[in-house]
Formats: sequence, C-alpha cells, structure tokens
Amino acid sequence: MKAMVLRQFGQPFGEEDVPLPAIGDHDLLIKTEACGVCYTDVKIASGLFPEISLPKILGHEVAGEVVGKGKEVGNFQEGDRVCLYFYLYCGQCPSCLAGKENLCLDLRGRIGFDVDGGYAEYVKAPATHAFKIPANVSFEEAAILADAVATSLHALKEQAQLQPAETLAIIGAGGLGLQAVQIGQVLGARVFSIDIEEKRLEMAKRLGAAATFNETSGNLREAILAHTRGVGVDTVLDLVGKDETINCALTFLKKGGKLVLVGYSFEKPFSVFPAVIMRSELAIIGSRACRPKDLQAVIDLVATQKIKPFVSETFPLEQVNQVHDRLKKNEILGRVVLKP
Ligand SMILES: [Zn+2]
Ligand SMILES: [Zn+2]
Repeated sequence: MKAMVLRQFGQPFGEEDVPLPAIGDHDLLIKTEACGVCYTDVKIASGLFPEISLPKILGHEVAGEVVGKGKEVGNFQEGDRVCLYFYLYCGQCPSCLAGKENLCLDLRGRIGFDVDGGYAEYVKAPATHAFKIPANVSFEEAAILADAVATSLHALKEQAQLQPAETLAIIGAGGLGLQAVQIGQVLGARVFSIDIEEKRLEMAKRLGAAATFNETSGNLREAILAHTRGVGVDTVLDLVGKDETINCALTFLKKGGKLVLVGYSFEKPFSVFPAVIMRSELAIIGSRACRPKDLQAVIDLVATQKIKPFVSETFPLEQVNQVHDRLKKNEILGRVVLKP
C-alpha cells in the first residue's frame, strides 16, 4: 500500500510502498478515506516527541471503511464507515475503569504517534477503538471528530464544566479553536474568539462567536472587560499554551474562573505569581485529548446537525509535506484533511 513515511525527524515524509498492516483477532483493517492533519503531527515530525520511534506513519484523525476484520470481531462488517479513537488504552487499569481512558496507566501507544496511523491507504485498529459514523456525516468531517472536535468537547464540558450562559474566551482560532467555537455554543456559552489573524477571527465570527478580539490590536484585557460588565470571563480555553497566552488569560479571567490548557508549547515554562491564582481562586486545569465517550458524543452532535465540523481544505495524501509546510508558516485556516 502507499504510505507517507517519516524516517528522520526534521526531514520530509517519503512516499513508500509498504506492506498492508497485519491484523490480529480483535482488529479491523480500515481503508483510509480521510485523515486530519493536526499541529501535533508537525511537532512530532520536527522531533519534539523524541520517544517516538521511527520509521513511522503519522495521522491520528482517521476515518475510513472497514475492509477486513479479525476472527473475534463480531460487531463490524465490511463496508462499515468508521472513525478511530486513537489512544490504545488497556481497558482494565483504574483510569480506564473510571472512564478516563485518555489517562490510561498502561497505554499501548497512540495511533499515529507510537503505532502507524492514517497517512496511508490502510490502517489497523482494535475494533473497540472504531466508532460507526452515520450516513449523513462525510469521511472528512468524521476524521476530525477524533481529535479537533472531541478534544474541544472534553475540555469544555468535562474539564471546565462549562455551564449555559457563561462566558468562554478561546485563545487560538486554528484547527481546534474554530471547532471549539461551535462546541462552546452547543453548551450554551457566550463565546469570544481571540487570535492574531484577522481572517481566522472572521471565520470564528461566521461560526457563531459573539465577539472576536485581535490580540495585536491594543489592550485585550480592557476590551474583554468591556464585554463582560467589568468582571471578566468564566472560562478561558487556551489552545496555544505559551507563557504569554497564559499570563494574558489570567488578566481577564473572572474571580473564581477557570483556565483550561489544551495547547502546549515547549518553548519555555510559564511563570505566574502564586498570589494571582490564590487571591482570585482561579483554577488552572489540564485537558488531554478526549475519552471514547466524548468521541461518541460529538458523533451524535454531528449526526443531529447541532455542529458542523469545519474542514477547510482537502489535499491528496502525497501532498502532506506541503500541508505541513503551510501549517508551520501559519497559512492554514481551520482543519485540513488528507485523502489517500
Ligand atoms: Zn491532534
Ligand atoms: Zn488503562
């Protein structure tokens, strides 16, 4: 099969003819129909996850059609349309038993990170990690549910416990941020979108943001306080995760507010005076990917047309290097999907 293979960090992906994945008794063989490109892929390819062994086929936002199954798999048929939950959780550890599979204590890898993923014509996955997608959801939309959309839902609903009528400020209107604008609204919040690119903010507005703020134009704190009767926002979702964005968020978070970190930069640690957190009883909350139930929840939201995943462009798989270059240069609006 054709695959775009990463053989060396910092080098382009190479098109190769590789063997079909060999499936076990509990696995599905899936013909990849769409694979989202996440900025994490750019980080992996540039060597920021040195624990990942090479060569590797990246791609953790996968949707496709079942074309083969192991002999123990009962609940899937050839031709089923599926998307994949990419954390290969064990299902038996205390975290898994508590329904926090994203925090599995005995993780067997992640599809598209530690085991081969969707930058290929075929991919394998345990049947327990495949989710059927309804007929009215395209493969392109289904692909990005697994991370960009479900990660937003997990962060806002489970981690932030966002409530109707609360205010939510989202820092970053990129691949995740534009999906999060919709998720925030579905949860009933008033959503503000913050970015440095006007064209992204325009898209955030089109997707329903109540107000948008360009970080480069003047005093963000005052602008946001003016929109919140001087009290600040209930929740900030930081999809950038830099010292600067975290400190900026803390200037317009309401007393008792929550800062949820989904973005993460490796540039430098963040630094905050403890009194800033203590005096206003702020909560800084981490949110890692999503759980299987979050993925099922966003599949249901799309099926019932409560949200529409925002896929900006589709490219042939062979153009993955160009897509990564454009992501690095910040030239991509929203989420891009590859098609083998
Ligand atoms: Zn991702
Ligand atoms: Zn586990």
